[in-house]
Amino acid sequence: MASNFRKTLLTVSLFFNVLLADAGHAADVPYPSKPVTMVVPFTAGGPTDTVARLIAQSMSAELKQTIVIENVGGAGGTLGAGRVARAAADGYTVLLHHIGQATAPSLYRKLPYKVEDFEAIGLVTAVPMTIVARKDFPPKNLKELIDFAKKNKDKVTYANAGLGSASHLCGMLLMKAMDTVLTTVPYKGTGPAMNDLLGGRVDFMCDQTTNTTSQIKAGKIKAYAVTSKKKIASLPQLPTAAESGLPGFEISVWHALYAPRNTPKVAIDRLNQALKVALKDKTVISRFAELGTEPEPEERLKPEVLNTYLKEERARWDEVIRKAGQFAE
Ligand code: ASP
Repeated sequence: MASNFRKTLLTVSLFFNVLLADAGHAADVPYPSKPVTMVVPFTAGGPTDTVARLIAQSMSAELKQTIVIENVGGAGGTLGAGRVARAAADGYTVLLHHIGQATAPSLYRKLPYKVEDFEAIGLVTAVPMTIVARKDFPPKNLKELIDFAKKNKDKVTYANAGLGSASHLCGMLLMKAMDTVLTTVPYKGTGPAMNDLLGGRVDFMCDQTTNTTSQIKAGKIKAYAVTSKKKIASLPQLPTAAESGLPGFEISVWHALYAPRNTPKVAIDRLNQALKVALKDKTVISRFAELGTEPEPEERLKPEVLNTYLKEERARWDEVIRKAGQFAE
């Protein structure tokens, strides 16, 4: 009897020794010791994907590890966010998302994650939007677009990247400000939406400068206004929406980096450090400027700043969304 007890005791203590050694080993392995996956919750080629690939290149050099971009589109970014919420909290899966992280809880009755399933790494950039149309769309300016949309009610088609996407939010605000209804055409990202705009298969959309600047400069789409408070240097010819017939109309799409809840602090700190380096990278800064945006300033890059900002934005958009009466089952 006693020898059996001793054998069991030995097995149990061996088991715990292996466990502790393994944990100790894990703690000794420097982070990151393997590639990091950066999930983009929209299709490749869209504005969020553009921001992700730009910062990933620079963060990868700083981390001395590959950063693999994984595009998981659908449901306004909530499918991709759910993918990260369920990932191992080991620092090897991160989420690059935008304002949709703040609006989804008000728009979706059922989400594939809980709001507390994420750890803040840091803010990245706030991108202005442009109101753009297919080349041969009749309205010549925003005022004519407003009149045209009122007269043609739901015959005007408007592209967005699903409920909760930035293009959806802008469209929601536009319909309210224009006091009209548009027929919305949802895509898994404004990358594919842009293809239909270029092909004349959808009338107009409100999308981020990171996706529209090159097409506007090439004269392939019509541009009516920017949605930022002031004009932007990369598209100096564009008036603001506020001065073109929609007083007070302003929306910019902030982006941030997150990890699954309980990701070790050593990983969060290392990722935050790499993000700070990336946002000071001259290549990132100049490419952002060409695309109409700029990095968040250094003083806003602490994880706690993102936590506070996310809470404020959730409250702000919850009120707007309830007033608009928009939600998805
Ligand atoms: N950010 C989305 C994308 O990259 C578009 C959107 O949110 O409107 O496709």
